[in-house]
Amino acid sequence: MLAERIRRVSPSATLEISAKAKEMKARGEDVINLSAGEPDFPPPEEATEEVCRAVRKGYGRYTASQGIEELRSAIAEKLRRENGIECTPEQVIVTPGAKMAIYAAVMVLVDPGDEVLIPEPWWVSYPAMVELAEGRAVYVPTKEEEGFRLTPEAVGERITSKTKVLILNTPCNPTGAVMREQELRGIAELCQDHGIYVISDEIYEYMVYDGARHVSIGSFDGMEELCITVNGFSKSYCMTGWRIGYAAGKEEIIKAMTRLQAHSVSNVTTFVQHAGIKALGADMRLMLDEFDRRRRYMVEELRKMPGVRCIMPEGAFYVFPNFSAYGGDSKKLAMYLLEEAKVATVPGAAFGREGHLRLSYAVCKGAIAEGLSRIRSALEGLEHESDSPRCI
Ligand code: PMP
Ligand code: GLU
Repeated sequence: MLAERIRRVSPSATLEISAKAKEMKARGEDVINLSAGEPDFPPPEEATEEVCRAVRKGYGRYTASQGIEELRSAIAEKLRRENGIECTPEQVIVTPGAKMAIYAAVMVLVDPGDEVLIPEPWWVSYPAMVELAEGRAVYVPTKEEEGFRLTPEAVGERITSKTKVLILNTPCNPTGAVMREQELRGIAELCQDHGIYVISDEIYEYMVYDGARHVSIGSFDGMEELCITVNGFSKSYCMTGWRIGYAAGKEEIIKAMTRLQAHSVSNVTTFVQHAGIKALGADMRLMLDEFDRRRRYMVEELRKMPGVRCIMPEGAFYVFPNFSAYGGDSKKLAMYLLEEAKVATVPGAAFGREGHLRLSYAVCKGAIAEGLSRIRSALEGLEHESDSPRCI
């Protein structure tokens, strides 16, 4: 019954596991959810006030598919001021989440058979999007001992005459890696030499720690025509369910994405677009400082667990510890932790990297402490119960 294109695509592991944990909680089970990529802070007060005001003012009609001019201007100004990207409001599209911006960019750039470079580990939806566009995902490995940062050399080795697009994600979900300017410059040079488009997913741009600096590849000379910069409000402003994100790039590409949006979702909810103007630039320092504290706490606690290796991530709000001493089957381990310890995590396999689990620290400190203590006890249980210690 179902079309071939959707049969090839599996469900989103991150959304699925998070939904399962929420469901168990609703049934009264005492689940600690470390799987969700969703900040536990409220959205900025000015955005909440504006959304109510906008509804009352009757801002509920269709808007231009590309998004309201006022918001696109504010985004263009933000990109100029904070990211060093020069663009006009005509080069900006407002989408229902960054996810739709990436999807639309893939759909308008990738023809069947085109190759799309995706750094591994990857965020779960990139391969699915490429699959839906009938492109071919080509994975570019990163090394744990290099902090999972993508190198120009690894990218260069996988470029062929069919390479059309590179999807970049810095800071990275799930590893927390933050690309250095020098590495990005090397990659930009390769893209220019080979005419490769870059979809730069910068949704975690504000979540950088230990002096790491977020750099936008779209700000480099020569990338104006090649880079589509994607960002959104879900993480920076805790507006996950509001569904609002955006992309900026060459006008011809943005207009094509607008055509796709016009024939699929029409426009982002009108009153949410108005609230977006107020959210931009809101002060989220308290949240970011708290994430930083939780990050260090989580890594310290994980490192105390026997057999667990964990690099200190420089960005986003995830840690990606290595549990391969426990057998290497991350799905089995995540399921064991969910059933035995009632702690939800995302298996590394969902991101293309076995042996790891992704844990989010965008949840309150109490839940993190309890979750980690349960994981620790559950792992001890494994050592005692198994014939070959540390294996499941
Ligand atoms: N990119 C990355 C790397 C993500 O983790 C997410 C998850 N929220 C998205 C894009 C999509 O975000 P949204 O659609 O909620 O803006
Ligand atoms: N991006 C978040 C995550 O990786 C939210 C879920 C999703 O959109 O995939 O957990």
